[in-house]
This record gives sequence, structure tokens and C-alpha cells, in this order.
Amino acid sequence: MDNIQMVDLANQYNKIKNEIDTAIQEVIDSTAFVKGTKVKEFEANMARFLDVKHVISVGNGTDALQIALMSLDLKLGDEVIVPDFTFIASAEVVALLGLTPVFADVNYETFNINPSSIKKAISPKTKAIIPVHLFGQGAEMEEINKIAKEYNLYVVEDNAQAIGADYCFRDGQRKKLGTIGDIGCTSFFPSKNLGCFGDGGAIFTNDDKLAEKIRTIANHGMKERYYHDMLGVNSRLDTLQAAVLDVKLKYLDNYCSSRFNAAMYYNEALANVNGVVTPALSEFTTHVFHQYTLKISNGKRNELRAFLSDRQIPAMIYYPVPLHKQKVFSFSAHVGDAMTVSDALADEVLSLPMHTELTTQQDYIIGVIKEFFS
Ligand SMILES: *Cc1c(COP(=O)(O)O)cnc(C)c1O
Repeated sequence: MDNIQMVDLANQYNKIKNEIDTAIQEVIDSTAFVKGTKVKEFEANMARFLDVKHVISVGNGTDALQIALMSLDLKLGDEVIVPDFTFIASAEVVALLGLTPVFADVNYETFNINPSSIKKAISPKTKAIIPVHLFGQGAEMEEINKIAKEYNLYVVEDNAQAIGADYCFRDGQRKKLGTIGDIGCTSFFPSKNLGCFGDGGAIFTNDDKLAEKIRTIANHGMKERYYHDMLGVNSRLDTLQAAVLDVKLKYLDNYCSSRFNAAMYYNEALANVNGVVTPALSEFTTHVFHQYTLKISNGKRNELRAFLSDRQIPAMIYYPVPLHKQKVFSFSAHVGDAMTVSDALADEVLSLPMHTELTTQQDYIIGVIKEFFS
């Protein structure tokens, strides 16, 4: 058996090595390393895949979030609601722009932002909500869009972990996550569900005006060369990364189902293990299992992690510290509600190896977990 890893990028690459290597070599031969034709082609293919009007590729997922917020003309001190239980980037960019992150609590079952906690966090200064589709499953977008409409707020989806997942509206309509709010953002970090061979990210929108502004901001605030209309940044996807992503995009649906099947295998095998809560599926979103995350209560989580580690099984804690307890936010953020669930999750979550190449390793992992609880 191969060494067990959280993510197995080597075996994934080996299956499409020829295609990827050819695509990379073509970029090298063209020497169009920045703004090559592959970047435009990938953006167009991604737009078709998501059924969204505009895809603007950028340097990474954090830049995507920052540029999205910059396009909204917010003022210093305006408030942006962010889930308390997420990766730092979702809130970091808010504070970096002189805006105030206001944290909302999350749902215990889905790990995602809780709409009723969003309502409690709203003040006259609130201008936007950043729902994060954590671990591969969508936040309650229908409800969130309703709140946003009522209070006149922008919605910027952080879809770094759920690219390819669908949202199912009550009327039966389906849309890809990342295309439901005003703007969607994603990351192509290597370990993400659609990962490149370095850093990359993208922004999605159906709004023509926002799209033009986002493109301008990502390019030094410049439309006509050397004429700068607004403050911008330099953030772009390398042609090499676009070439890799354009190949991998064709396999994204397969990658999503491999992850889903592996998750269902874990779920079934662990369903009756006392002390383990397996991830729940929701009615209004498909799940692409960026992470497969158990909840282990009764203070046993760290003990189980050590037990797994002693048996060469990695397991990770995403995330050990809720944002409202991060030192960096002790002055620059507010809490909109009690963070009861987020606090509990930080003590209970344990993510198991999850990737597109899981095979017999799962039986071994499951066996060790059962042994721990027996
Ligand atoms: C990975 C990630 C980001 C940041 O993406 P980078 O490409 O690493 O900058 C933002 N939000 C979430 C939820 C993420 O998982």
C-alpha cells in the first residue's frame, strides 16, 4: 500500500500525464507565459462549465476575494459578514481593505454560515455577505440572497472549496455554486478540487459592469495602456497554470464523483460507530467533498488523531481556531452573535484523507477508526 496522504496529487497527475505534459510544452514553446491564448481559452471553458457570463482569472483565491470586494466601492469601516468557521482568507481581505469583518455563527450539520446568525450580525454599516461553501457543500444561498435583497447587501461567494457543486433551488432550478451571488471566487491551489501546479484563482459574475471593473482592478486599474482610472493590483493566472487547468477541467466532474463515492464509502462504514458523526448531505446542494470531516465529541478528537497518526494515517483539523478567537482579529473585527457552534466545531472536527485516488486505503483507515472506538 502507498503511503497514505491527505491528498494524492501524484497518482492523479500520472493518469493524465501525457495530456498535461503536452499542454505545458506548448506554452513553453510559445513563450507566451503571461496573457497567452490558453488563459482566454480556459476562461471561456470555465464560463461554459459554470454557465456564467464572465470568468476573470487571477493570481490566487485570496486575490480573487480581495479584487471582488474592491469592485464594490465600499467605504472604510463598512461591515462585511463572514462565517466564523472558515479559512482566514475569507475574512483577511475584508480587514486588509479597511472594512470590518463581522462574524456569523455556522450550522452544526453543514459547517456553513447560519442565515439566522447573519440577520443578527446586520447593522446599518453592513454592505456585503461572504458565504463560504465549506468542505464542498453549498451554504443556504436562497435564504442568503433573500436576506441580501431585503437589506440591500452584496453577496460574494467564497467557492474555493466547492467548485463543480450544484445548488438546487426550491423551484427545482439548479445553478453551479459560485454563480448565485453577485460575485463568486475560487482558488486553484494544488490541493483544491480543481488545482493547478502552483497558485491560481478566478472570479465569476453575470454582471457586465462588475466584470469590466474586476478585470480593470486585476490589471493595475488600467483599461487603456498606462492610463489608470482606479487603484488596482497585479493579479493574473500564468499561461502555464491555465494550460494545466484547461486539461483538468475536463475531468472535474469525474473528480467530483470520485470524491463523492469515497465519502459515501466512509459514511456507510462509519455510520454505526458510536462517538463518530459522519458528514450530512443537504437537500439544497450537491457535495463535492473537498474535505471529508467527522465530528468527534467527548474530547476524544485529539486522541483519535494521535491513534491514527501512530498507524501512518494523516488526519487534519480544519479549523482549530474560529476566526473570532484569532489574535489578528482581536481589534479589527466584531462578533455578530454567540459563536457557540463554531467554538464546538473547532474542538470536534477531524478531516480524513480525501482525494480522487482513494482505493483500498479506505478499508485500512476505517478499520483503525473502528479499533479506536471498540
Ligand atoms: C484556499 C482557500 C482560499 C484562498 O485561496 P488561495 O488560492 O490559497 O489564496 C480562500 N477561501 C477558502 C475557503 C479556501 O479554502
